[in-house]
Amino acid sequence: MPGVAPPLTAEPLPVTALKGVGPKLADRLRRLGIASAEDVLLHLPLRYQDRTRVTPINQAQPGDEAQIEAEVVSSEVTARGRRFLLCHLTDGTGVLTLRFFHFSPAQEQLFSRPGMRLRCFGEVRQGYTGLEMIHPECRRVGPDAPPVDDRLTPIYPTTAGLQQFTLRGLAEQALAQLHATALLPELLPAEIRTRLQLPPLAEALELLHRPPAGTALADLESGRHPARRRLAFEELLAHQLSLRRLRARMQRQAAPPLADRGGLSQRFLERLPFALTAAQQRVLAEIGADLAQPRPMLRLLQGDVGSGKTVVAAAAALRAVEAGAQAALMAPTELLAEQHYRNFRAWLEPLGLEVAWLTGRLTGKARQTLLERLAAGEIHVAVGTHALFQETVAFAELALAIVDEQHRFGVHQRLALREKGRQGGRCPHQLIMTATPIPRTLAMSAYADLDTSTIDELPPGRQPVKTVVVPDSRRDEVIERIRQACRAGRQAYWVCPLIEESEALQCQAAAVTAERLTALLPELRIGLAHGRRSAADREATMSAFKAGELDLLVATTVIEVGVDVANASLMIIENAERLGLAQLHQLRGRVGRGAAHSSCVLLYRPPLSPIAHSRLAVLRECNDGFEIARRDLELRGPGEVLGTRQTGEQTLRVADLLRDQDLLNAVRHTADALLRDHPDRVEPLIRRWIGGSARYGEV
Ligand code: ADP
Ligand code: MG
Repeated sequence: MPGVAPPLTAEPLPVTALKGVGPKLADRLRRLGIASAEDVLLHLPLRYQDRTRVTPINQAQPGDEAQIEAEVVSSEVTARGRRFLLCHLTDGTGVLTLRFFHFSPAQEQLFSRPGMRLRCFGEVRQGYTGLEMIHPECRRVGPDAPPVDDRLTPIYPTTAGLQQFTLRGLAEQALAQLHATALLPELLPAEIRTRLQLPPLAEALELLHRPPAGTALADLESGRHPARRRLAFEELLAHQLSLRRLRARMQRQAAPPLADRGGLSQRFLERLPFALTAAQQRVLAEIGADLAQPRPMLRLLQGDVGSGKTVVAAAAALRAVEAGAQAALMAPTELLAEQHYRNFRAWLEPLGLEVAWLTGRLTGKARQTLLERLAAGEIHVAVGTHALFQETVAFAELALAIVDEQHRFGVHQRLALREKGRQGGRCPHQLIMTATPIPRTLAMSAYADLDTSTIDELPPGRQPVKTVVVPDSRRDEVIERIRQACRAGRQAYWVCPLIEESEALQCQAAAVTAERLTALLPELRIGLAHGRRSAADREATMSAFKAGELDLLVATTVIEVGVDVANASLMIIENAERLGLAQLHQLRGRVGRGAAHSSCVLLYRPPLSPIAHSRLAVLRECNDGFEIARRDLELRGPGEVLGTRQTGEQTLRVADLLRDQDLLNAVRHTADALLRDHPDRVEPLIRRWIGGSARYGEV
C-alpha cells in the first residue's frame, strides 16, 4: 500500500532555517528574490564550469574554459608598461602561460618554484607567444593529485557581496532538504509528466544544481535539457493558472447587462461617412454579446494599425450610454487621450452626448466641476490617461472601461485597473485594445484571462505604404522628395524619435530639425509638434495640419498613435534603427490612409548592425502588423513585443516565452486538465512560482 501522500502545500521553509543564513545574508538573498529554501532551489544556475576532467594542454582550445594540471617551468615579472606576473607551465603535452595583472609578493614567491604542480581552471586564450590563462583559479596539488569533481560546477546569477560558493552551499543544503522532507512536493500528475516526457521535479532540480560529469553542457545552457524544460513548463503552467483564476474570479462578479436597444449606437453607425468592414461588424457582434451578459466582459480587441478599432470602441461605449450608464476610455499618453477625445467629441456630441477629457493637467475649479459632473452622471463618456482611475475620480455608473494601446501597460496595471473600476459590488465590462498584434501562442499565454477579437481586414481602398531604407548621408534626396510631394499638394511627416534619454532633449532635437528644414525648404509651411508644447499649441498645429494649412509636420513620436490625416502621403523617420518594429509600423500607419500612393522613408545612421539591417528589411518587405510582430518576436524576444520591457515588469524566472513557445499549447491543455481533475494542485503551483498575491494582486 502506498504511504500517505505528503501534503501539497506546506508553509515555505524560511531561508534563515538553512545553516549559516543570518539576517545579513538573508537580506542579500532577498535581492535575488530568494526568501525560502524553495526559492533557493528555483534559483537556477546561469551556466556551468566543467572541472570533472583535466584537459591535456595540447587539446585545450582557445575560447574554452578548461582545467589543466601542469608543473611550473619558470616565472618572471615583466614591466613593459604595466607590471605583470607570468608563470610558464608544462604538462608534457604542451606549454601554457598564466598571466596575472594583480599579485602579491607572496604569490610572486609561490609561482617561482620550478617543479611545483598546479591545477588551474580558466579560459584558455591565444596569447602572443602561445596559450595563456589570465587570472585562473589555481591550487597546488601533490604527487598523488586529488580526484577531479564528479559534478559540473554551477554558476548562479548573483548580487554584490554574495559569493558563488555561498550559493552553492545553500543549494546543497536545500537539495538535502528536498530529498528528506516535503519541500517542493511534486505537483504535476504522473500521467502528464509521462505524456510530455518531463522528469519528476526532484530529479530535475538535482540535475540542474548538481549535473553529473558528462551531462551535455550545451543542452543545459541553451535551456533544451529536459530538466530545464520541466521547470519552464511548470512555471508557464503556474502563470497560465493564475491568469485563468483571475478570470474566473472576475467572472463571478456582477456587471450591468447592456442590452442592445438599437438606439444610439445604431444612429452613430448610420451617421458615419463609411460602412463598417465585415471584420468590424463581426467583432462588434462579439463585443455586443458579451456586454449583454450580467458578468463582466474581458475582451482583447486586436487589429492592425488603421483597421478601425476606435469606431468599434465608440459603438461599444454607446451601448453603455444607451443603458443609462457611462463609459471610460483610457489611453497611455496624454496625446493619445487628447486625440481620442477629439474623435469621440466629434462623433458623440451631435448625438446630444457629453464627452469629457480628464487630463492630469486639469486642476483647481475646472477639475472639481468636471469630477462633480462625472459623479452626477452628467458626463456620458470620459477620456483620459491613468489619471482617470485615481482615487478621487468617481463615476455615477461606469459600465464599460476601454483601455487603448494595451502593450504600454503591463499585466499588473491591467489588473489594478480592474480594481479601480469596481464600484458598489459591480464591475464594469472591459475592452482592451491593442495595435501591436500579438502572435497567437503568445497571446494565449500572456492574455489567458481575456477573450480575443481580431479585426483582420483593413477598410477598403487602403494603399500599402511603400517603404525604403536610406542612409543618413542621402538626406538631400529625401528633402527633395518632400519638396516634390508638397508641390503636388500632398502633406508629409518628419519624425524625430527618441535618440536622447530625456524627453526635453528629444523635443529640442525636433525643434532644431524643424529649423533646419525650414531653412532648406523655405517655400513650405512647416509645423512642429512635440510633448513639451502646450496642449493648446499642439492642438492648433495638429488642426492646421489636418486642415491642409501646413505642408510638413515635424514631430517626435507623439504622432505614433491616433493622428489621422488622409492627405498625408509621405513619412520620414529618422534614426529608424533605434525603434522597435511594431512602433515603426505604427508610425508608418499614419500615411496610406487616403487614395494616394504613400511612402515611408526609414533614415538610418550607418553603420547598421546585421540584426538592425534584417529588422528594417522586415518593414520594407511586409505591411502586415501580425507578420511584423512575429518577426520582431524572433529578433528581439517577447519582452519587446508584450511591452513588459518598457514597464520593467519581471515576469518569468526560468521559462522564456520565445525559446519555450513549443510548450505553450501543452501548458494550456494541462491547465484545463488540472482545473478539472486536480483543483487542489492549482493554488500550490501558483504560490510556488508567483508567490501568492504579492505579484499579481488579488481580484
Ligand atoms: P486604429 O485601428 O489604428 O485605431 P482607427 O480607428 O484610428 O484605426 O481608424 C483609422 C481610420 O480609418 C480612421 O480615420 C477611421 O475613421 C477610418 N475608418 C475606420 N473604419 C472604417 C471603415 N470601415 N471604412 C473606412 N474608413 C474607416
Ligand atoms: Mg488607434
